Amino acid sequence: MLTVSILGATGSIGASTVDLLAQHKDRFRVGSLVGGRDAAGLAKLARELNASFAAVADESAGPALAEALSGSGISNGAGEGAVLEAVSRDADIVVAAVSGAAGLKPTHAALRLGRTIALANKESLVCAGDAFMRDAKCYNATLLPVDSEHNALAQALGGGPIADVAKMTITASGGPFRTWTRERIQAASAAEAAKHPTWSMGMKINIDSASLMNKGLELIEAHHLFAIGHDRLDVIVHPQSIVHGLITWRDGAVTAGLAMPDMRVPIAHCLGLGDRLTIERGRGLDLAATGSLTFEPADETRFPCLKIARAALAGGGAAPTVMNAANEIAVAAFIRGAISFYGIAEVVERACEHFAPVFGAAPADVEEALAIDAEVRVWSEQALPETRAA
Ligand code: NDP
Ligand code: MG
Repeated sequence: MLTVSILGATGSIGASTVDLLAQHKDRFRVGSLVGGRDAAGLAKLARELNASFAAVADESAGPALAEALSGSGISNGAGEGAVLEAVSRDADIVVAAVSGAAGLKPTHAALRLGRTIALANKESLVCAGDAFMRDAKCYNATLLPVDSEHNALAQALGGGPIADVAKMTITASGGPFRTWTRERIQAASAAEAAKHPTWSMGMKINIDSASLMNKGLELIEAHHLFAIGHDRLDVIVHPQSIVHGLITWRDGAVTAGLAMPDMRVPIAHCLGLGDRLTIERGRGLDLAATGSLTFEPADETRFPCLKIARAALAGGGAAPTVMNAANEIAVAAFIRGAISFYGIAEVVERACEHFAPVFGAAPADVEEALAIDAEVRVWSEQALPETRAA
């Protein structure tokens, strides 16, 4: 039996993971479950899966969690200390699926313990990729990519040498605004931006998918995971979301990873640790029924966030850390209706310009990344009112 802990158990990736664990009870037992503030949701999962420990990050949700778990025998706690205790408990696999920069500390704590980490929290690599990859090696931790594009790339790579890769390409569905004009996108609401055409995901990543910032974050994620330069990384729009990643080898051969758009597929690949797990109620890929797979270039004019992210990746240093923090603030502001859709790109671009001369080298460790993150957040909040409805 393998013990699996989930950081971000109450979220979208958490739900897909829980579904797989419930389908393979003979193979997995559940260790710790961590959530943000949804005490009732976390307690329900902990009871159903017979977890050994449950923690909520938000201190104020602690009493509700304790109450909901009373009589269950499941230990629980609240606050950062409890989250770190959850991570420190024994686990063969830790699924790191907290959303945003909030995932850095708990994910890094698991890494320092030398755990095998199924990594969904791409922000860990965007904000502190150099430190994460260095420390993974140093503490003998294993990072398995959950993100569907990176999981497909890893499978298509099949252990082949990166030196033989001419190009790695990740696909984008194009999001809900793929065919919209700039004027229509400018006036889009958060509800419209959150209507993803092919994937079912959490709110933040939905908005990032609509702006194509998600692809930008994923280019940076791929750069760190596969130790490949930005000049060999590419994005292509593929509305059917069936081909997720492609490796173009130096002889012109291409290997690709295909699957239906269902996050359980890459999660199962990670949880299997080399074995293939059956997915009950999975939607098998039927190419004849799909009919055609189409591809088109990504439009960086209507989707400037992709261009900004490419520049941050090429520029390196602290630029991705700055970009991510500004993006989190801008996306939250867009969701609450404080700025327009293109206001997101504008805040992020201004933050990158403002901080470029201030922050130079890539953060040396998670603490430095979080310090930069905190400073950029404060600046970006203040920049919001000046954001034009461009
Ligand atoms: P959700 O918003 O659905 O879930 C986020 C999870 O994180 C929830 O369990 C939430 O708890 C928890 N959380 C929030 N803040 C904290 C905190 N401070 N400490 C501990 N836990 C916290 O996000 P997704 O599942 O969509 O995404 C999670 C990560 O996976 C993101 O980094 C995303 O980019 C990545 N990813 C997601 C994909 C998807 O298909 N959804 C695909 C590829 C990558 P609570 O509910 O209690 O607030
Ligand atoms: Mg992805």
